[in-house]
Formats: sequence, C-alpha cells, structure tokens
Amino acid sequence: MNNLEGAVFDALEPAGCPVCRLTRSAAYHYLDSLIYEAVNDPGVRAALERSGGFCPPHFWLLTRVENPAGGVTMLTQALLEEPPRLPRQYAAHTWIGSGAPCPACEVQAQAEDRYESVIRKHAARPEWRGAYSTGASLLCRPHALRCGQDWQDETARKEAALRAELAEFTRKQDYRFAHEPLGSEGNAWRRAVAVLAGLGPEQKGS
Ligand SMILES: [Zn+2]
Ligand SMILES: [Zn+2]
Repeated sequence: MNNLEGAVFDALEPAGCPVCRLTRSAAYHYLDSLIYEAVNDPGVRAALERSGGFCPPHFWLLTRVENPAGGVTMLTQALLEEPPRLPRQYAAHTWIGSGAPCPACEVQAQAEDRYESVIRKHAARPEWRGAYSTGASLLCRPHALRCGQDWQDETARKEAALRAELAEFTRKQDYRFAHEPLGSEGNAWRRAVAVLAGLGPEQKGS
C-alpha cells in the first residue's frame, strides 16, 4: 500500500466521507503552505491575479489557516490593486463561472480525482470493504455515486442506520419522550447534511 492508498484506507475509519475529508484537507494544506511559503512566489502571485484570488469558500478557508494575517495582508494588498474578477469555482465535478480558475479549487479537483480512483480500485478487496463496513465513515452521496456499486451497497446500509437515528431524534422531540437523554442521534442531522452535500470547504476535514 503506497502513501496515497494508506491515507485513503485510514480515512475509512473516522466519521464523515473519506473522499471529502481528504480533498478538503488537500485544499487546506495547499492554502496553509501558500501562506507560509508561496505568497511571494511570482508564479503563484500571477495565477492569483489572473483569477482575482480564490472562490469565496476557499478565500474564507484561507483566513482559517494558522497565522494567516501576514500572508493574507500581502495577498489582499496585491489583489486590491488589480481590477475585479470572479474566479471560476469547482463544485460537484463542475466548473462554475468564466474567469481563471480558483487555484485552490484546481488543487482540490486533482486531489479528488486521485482519491476517487483509489476508492474505485480497491472496492472489490475484502480488507477495504471490511474497513469501510466497521469504520464510522460514510461516503457522501456525490462520492458514493462515483465510487462504484461495490461501495454503494455498504453505503446504503450505513444510510439506513443514519435514517434510524434521525427517526429516533424525531421521536424524542415528542413531549412524551423528551425526558429521555439524547444519544448519538443528537447530531445525526449534521451527518445527514454531510451525506447529502459533502463536507463544506470550510471544514478542513482532519
Ligand atoms: Zn464526499
Ligand atoms: Zn476554490
């Protein structure tokens, strides 16, 4: 198992979509290293000036890396000298808009392709399917649709368990049962949004 495969295999254990987690993490680490190392790189600066910076979710993610103030100051100073542009944004495997692409979206899209290909490649292996089966992870619907039927059966079983938690939460909203303490179903609604939408870019996923 190479490093890429190891990262995907490990992401089958924690809660959340493994592909979302890893792709969002790739975008976060790109932005984090950009602030530390590349904000003065002429090639990086030129690309950012062509795109007008980042798409809104990645621009806000940039403000949440460690110690962003210095790098974001330099970058926004340079961008505010340029005319306004709308960067193209990558969402659900589609580019939106007409400007130069958001560089963080490009990094994220390439990472997503890599991680999805690993997921598809190992779908038939019992060790991988066993790790997904026993882990807390659950592929979001967009990634489940793209990652092959072998994963979708197990994903459907996990979705059914999530629906049962939503039903349990709803039951406890009834005044007759409201005294019962909330268990894991207390945050099932958040996990349901993650399944339907995938993790938002603002979540670094690690
Ligand atoms: Zn996902
Ligand atoms: Zn972006």
